Amino acid sequence: MDPTPIRHEWKSRAEPGGLHLFDRVTGLNVLLDEIRVAPQHWSTAPRQVSVALTNACDLSCSFCFAPKRRAELPFETLIQWLVELDEDGCLGVGFGGGEPTKYPRFVDLCRLTARRTQLAVTFTTHGHSFDRSLAAKLKGSVHFIRVSMDGVGTTYEALRGRPFSEFLVRLDVIKSVAPFGINFLVNAQTIPCLDTAARIAGDFGAAEFLLLPEREAGSARSGDTATALQLRSWVERYRGSVPLSVSETDSDGLPTCSPFRPDDDRLGAYAHVDAQGVLKPTSFDEKGIAIGEGGIRRALRVLRDNERQGPT
Ligand code: SF4
Repeated sequence: MDPTPIRHEWKSRAEPGGLHLFDRVTGLNVLLDEIRVAPQHWSTAPRQVSVALTNACDLSCSFCFAPKRRAELPFETLIQWLVELDEDGCLGVGFGGGEPTKYPRFVDLCRLTARRTQLAVTFTTHGHSFDRSLAAKLKGSVHFIRVSMDGVGTTYEALRGRPFSEFLVRLDVIKSVAPFGINFLVNAQTIPCLDTAARIAGDFGAAEFLLLPEREAGSARSGDTATALQLRSWVERYRGSVPLSVSETDSDGLPTCSPFRPDDDRLGAYAHVDAQGVLKPTSFDEKGIAIGEGGIRRALRVLRDNERQGPT
């Protein structure tokens, strides 16, 4: 019998480095760097946009940097912003929070985004809201799930305040929805757990193990130097089955490779919308542009102009 053919959903995006093709079903990226695109034709939306849907969360992790004031994005307005981003060449949206599954119309949002746009739909979750019912509703409307697992066993329980055994049951449900990755917060407390965490990620079939060196709340500064050196040495020794990754802003001192040219401006790669509807270069920036009635296209233009002018 023939294997089931893979249904590709390719989207193209013009960038300084060439023509970027992305398939949201398989997550495959192809950069055709022999195709030169004139700057006036470069896609104006960032490659990826993260959106904090709500500041609400039912956990209270000590290292949490999500704002504590109540805020939630309006559903219809958000859909309109996502349509604009899709039209302007964005490839994927990552919903976060707070805890995105606490957003009142979370399932509708994922379904509508997957249907109305060509964006890859991803989200980051603590995982504890997942049961078979939520999994069934999301299946087919989500392309990748990022699950936070900071440490294992009692370390996880001390940080998250939930039983680790319960987390593993939830992870088993999550893996039935879509490909998933583990987000691992690295600090002095969690770093001894790296080997076990990476092994568990492999056992559950994770597609990625994302290292997130801890930052000080509200700042771009990472944690202590000893932990950073230990992490570097762990990465160099790592031979596990799950591919490692690290965000661009956390990659200092780690052996990484990136296909993208450094002349991509910061907003070409990524932008963040907070739960109050403010567009920022990253979630760690305090200031940004309130998106408002003019939509996210206008807000991006203003933010880009501000970035070019530099601090005043
Ligand atoms: S699960 Fe995430 S949003 Fe919730 S308290 Fe912990 S770090 Fe903050």
